[in-house]
Amino acid sequence: MKEKSTIRYKILNDKRVPLCDYSGTCMNKAYREVFPRLLKGKYRNRGWSYLCRKHFEQELKRFKRKLPYSTVCPISKHDL
Ligand SMILES: [Zn+2]
Repeated sequence: MKEKSTIRYKILNDKRVPLCDYSGTCMNKAYREVFPRLLKGKYRNRGWSYLCRKHFEQELKRFKRKLPYSTVCPISKHDL
């Protein structure tokens, strides 16, 4: 499986906010950054790392609430 590394961003209130990475089709604002690689095994090559609220809840259920995640911190444009 080919790994996706392109994170898309959107500028909101002068902050760079990552967008949901789910299947490369969702354009919602990211809600959580997730780390499926930490689970190893068959999830090692999962492409997405940012999920919107909807997809985060969906995947959390699928991973039986074991999906490692952190909150998304928007980056200020001026810090780049
Ligand atoms: Zn999404």
